[in-house]
Amino acid sequence: MELKEIEEFFKKNNVPSFRLKQLNDAIYKQYVSSFEEIKQFPKKLREDLNRNFNINELKLIETKKSNNTIKFLLKTKDEEYIETVLMNHNDGRRTVCVSCQIFCPLGCKFCATGANQYKRNLTKNEIIEQVLFVSRYLKNKNERVTNVVYMGMGEPFLNYENIIESIHILNDKDKFNIGARHITVSTAGIIPKIYEYAKFPLQTRLAISLHAPNNELRSKLMPINNKYPLPELMKACDEFVKLKNKRISYEYVLIDNINDSTKHAIQLVNLLKNRKAHVNLLIYNPHPFSDFKKPTIEKVKNFKKILDENNIQCSIRKSLGDDISGACGQLSGNKKSKK
Ligand code: SF4
Repeated sequence: MELKEIEEFFKKNNVPSFRLKQLNDAIYKQYVSSFEEIKQFPKKLREDLNRNFNINELKLIETKKSNNTIKFLLKTKDEEYIETVLMNHNDGRRTVCVSCQIFCPLGCKFCATGANQYKRNLTKNEIIEQVLFVSRYLKNKNERVTNVVYMGMGEPFLNYENIIESIHILNDKDKFNIGARHITVSTAGIIPKIYEYAKFPLQTRLAISLHAPNNELRSKLMPINNKYPLPELMKACDEFVKLKNKRISYEYVLIDNINDSTKHAIQLVNLLKNRKAHVNLLIYNPHPFSDFKKPTIEKVKNFKKILDENNIQCSIRKSLGDDISGACGQLSGNKKSKK
């Protein structure tokens, strides 16, 4: 739903302008899910809005819960499925992982999203509605969304304009009012957009889906690396750090016997030493779309130890929700995903 269209509708029908502010608050602060819930509006106005506009473009199909994670399966108007994940962290953060495309054209070898046929970019409204769905869910518990990460289905920087517009709405004090520092965009390495994002005025964060410490292996795991090779990617990252003075998060999913050896850890140290970096180590979550395996916990610990010993900041990110296929690389819009 576009507020601009409603604004025009209000003007045309001589609805006083303060109604627009009330509508904005109802949607973005009270998280109403229908016009009927806006009781300050006269009945006739609610009916008119109902006839002419849809407050939701997406339809909630199902929610799956595990301890700290809730996955929302949503259906678009054109009958496609996307997934949004809420992660409830012990420190009180409520992080929404949003999707930005219907599947993904980049086809990373370990990723369930990339194993499916890419369909299209999501619109700005479809991105924002994912946060609205989660906000409505949290409202019932007197909680609110504190963080948003663009790490769900799809490559955000292939949908750059809609991502940027959606960030403005998330950050807007009269809308979600989520601090820019609590918003992170992750990319597999669309280099021109990293340079553009480095000039984006808000203090939002950047994460790089790295997953390999050398160019050759990265090209094998992530075909986008053939177009935008690792050395060029690191130059773009350096420019981002220079302009923003912010460290970058590097996501590294450890896959058994692929990128989890001592040699790989040393290569990663050499790649990131003297860079403002934090490595999030993820443990590969097996899924039906690939034969890769989860590494043993000993291998994970050994990998982290080498990074620690060499003063590379890193943490093992607990893959919240791997039992509901809601963890990194597992989102597949599963009502329609291929087997
Ligand atoms: S890891 Fe990210 S960029 Fe790669 S295929 Fe999956 S969704 Fe696309």
